[in-house]
Amino acid sequence: MTKAPFPLQDQLRGFSRALFSTWLYHRRFNLLFDAGEGLSTSLLNRVFGIRKVFLSHGHADHIAGLINLVNIRNLGAGDQTTELEIHYPQGNALVEVVKNYLAQTQSELSFSLAWRPLEPGQTVALDDRRGKTFLRTFRTQHSQKQLSLGYNIVEARSRLRPEFAALGQAEINQAIWTHGKGKVVEPFEQIIFTYGGDSRPLPVGAITESLFLCHECTYLKREDDERNFHQHSILDEVLDVAEAARVKTLLLFHLSLRYTQEEVRSLVGQALRRRGAAFQVVFLFGDRFYPLADLAGRPGTLDPSGVSALDEDDRDTAGEEKP
Ligand SMILES: [Zn+2]
Repeated sequence: MTKAPFPLQDQLRGFSRALFSTWLYHRRFNLLFDAGEGLSTSLLNRVFGIRKVFLSHGHADHIAGLINLVNIRNLGAGDQTTELEIHYPQGNALVEVVKNYLAQTQSELSFSLAWRPLEPGQTVALDDRRGKTFLRTFRTQHSQKQLSLGYNIVEARSRLRPEFAALGQAEINQAIWTHGKGKVVEPFEQIIFTYGGDSRPLPVGAITESLFLCHECTYLKREDDERNFHQHSILDEVLDVAEAARVKTLLLFHLSLRYTQEEVRSLVGQALRRRGAAFQVVFLFGDRFYPLADLAGRPGTLDPSGVSALDEDDRDTAGEEKP
């Protein structure tokens, strides 16, 4: 896989600082993960590109942008008729409060607004031209009382069974002729993107070999977790998870306000050199994505496999960025 120059700003948009606001817009699938304050102000008319929202949980810094999002989609200068689906962890009382508020204040919307409660392990079909992509939820550990969810975008793919992997094309064709395709090729599920909210370290089994893991990283040093929140993650824990899950690219977000951009760069860089990590790391600081120099000291590049197709998409321009 060739490495492209760092292109992430165009493919993903987002904002994240712990406690203040977190949201991430995945343009290829027109999906918004969490809906923190300021998302509409930042995306402007791009909000008309959003088709589905997936909320990790109901804390204010992850849902405060919903009210304005629905309002702009109703009144702004864009396609006001496209349906908007808001998916959220089943029974999350705080999300229900916002849902009720919107029902009372926005009784006549120009588009259909669908609220979809989700349980762990549930799948949601995504608009994909080949119909092979879907989203699957998994349980995360965050607040004591409320269900919180993480989300995988999964692609149904096929590959050669191990016993045929070393053969040349002619031999593979022969094997398919002799044994039938099903004996030679096997289906598998590739996680192409993972969003975990601002939870404790994610369960490795749920995110194995994700091409692009978005993992919260509130604290860079263990001793900084002074208030013992124990509901977020510390850098070393996150790197353990990314390593064990054999992810390709790791995006760190939800960084505590106590760190400057330079501190993030230097502390994460040190940790990666110490470990000889085999994956690439990018961090979201405010509304900008920063790649870290790789282990050889070359400036950051991004293996595009996790997000490469984001740019080729044109569907999200339907209502986007028109005056
Ligand atoms: Zn939270």
